Amino acid sequence: MLERYEISARDADVAVVGAFLDPDAPGHKANLHCHSTHSDGQLSPAEIAELYAAEGYSILCIADHNSYADQDGDGLRDWNLDGVVTSPPRPRGEGPKPHLPCTEDAGREAYVRDYTRTAAEQGRPWVDENWQIARPGELLVLPGFEDHHTGPHIVANGFPVNPGAGDIARFKGTNDYREVTQDAGGVVYLAHPHGWDDEPAFFLNHPERRRFDGLEVVNSFLMRRGKQADPAGGDGFARRLWDAILTAGVSCWGWGNDDMHTADLTHHAGPFGAWTDIWSDSLSAEDVLAALRSGSFCASTGVTVSSLTLNGASIAVNAPNAGRIRFVGHGGRTLLEADTSAAEYCLVGDEGYVRIECENDNRRWPEQQPGLGQWAFCQPVWILAAGQGMPEGLEE
Ligand SMILES: [Zn+2]
Ligand SMILES: [Zn+2]
Repeated sequence: MLERYEISARDADVAVVGAFLDPDAPGHKANLHCHSTHSDGQLSPAEIAELYAAEGYSILCIADHNSYADQDGDGLRDWNLDGVVTSPPRPRGEGPKPHLPCTEDAGREAYVRDYTRTAAEQGRPWVDENWQIARPGELLVLPGFEDHHTGPHIVANGFPVNPGAGDIARFKGTNDYREVTQDAGGVVYLAHPHGWDDEPAFFLNHPERRRFDGLEVVNSFLMRRGKQADPAGGDGFARRLWDAILTAGVSCWGWGNDDMHTADLTHHAGPFGAWTDIWSDSLSAEDVLAALRSGSFCASTGVTVSSLTLNGASIAVNAPNAGRIRFVGHGGRTLLEADTSAAEYCLVGDEGYVRIECENDNRRWPEQQPGLGQWAFCQPVWILAAGQGMPEGLEE
């Protein structure tokens, strides 16, 4: 969970704000962005749950595209394959659009199932495809969706299925769900911004987006599809945008998701390409969402971070299967880089923030992307002047 420490760095007294990862605390593997037959995915929600549980995941969010929905049961509840909709054509950005354009008002209701409660608890007897009804306690499946009514793709994890007296919140404005989700304790972040909207102004100059919880620093759909332009897969990482947002002093966590649409492991939209390791006391929705809100997690494509600690004025990281560790600060500059699996960086005091990348040279897709190794991205730790207020977005 987020902590604040007042310490003496080499050149200044500073406040250090971040979520440090206790090696003894439980870590849980999560995929928080994938697609079922309720939008343009190939597997049913139950099949997705089986697939990820068998791979050792313990947290899932099936974030189907905004679509014509049956969640409140008024007419379309037997329609398993919802209409796929998307934003209007975009003026910039390259590459094929994954979905056909639709009119803006075609689907104002996102498709969200509450996988955390039984059909009886939900008062929805037609909800019979719920992993947690059949296999209670084995896998936490959070309600959520991927919205793109307003242009960018945005993932919501922990959207409240019963906000207020109504059944599902209908989006009256363009970004109402951001507030609704965060008010309920969930998180909202930009999906695959790299290659779509990686201009920092796109995030920083937009008052709603600026209040998002962060972005996908890794979207394995894009990471694996980016091979033509970049054999090392660097196109798959939204580091430029991430560093620009952090350099502006705005809180921004970085998620790793695979954006799975198919069980085909050889396909760039296949499963298990990127995930989020979450340090959460329990597998309750409340604890997991609290960890996501506070940055108590790492994005990974294969490297595991076993601890991230503050030792006096040093930040220490341990990533047993990493071969290289890089500490990054204000402006995206490299603070320290070493060929190692465990490293420690002594704070000077002017870093602004410190985030850590860990990588190795183990090729996960040698046929498709010969240069792409495995990575882990730690969440930023803020280095503030002593007595300075919390960064924008972290104020309570
Ligand atoms: Zn998307
Ligand atoms: Zn998606």
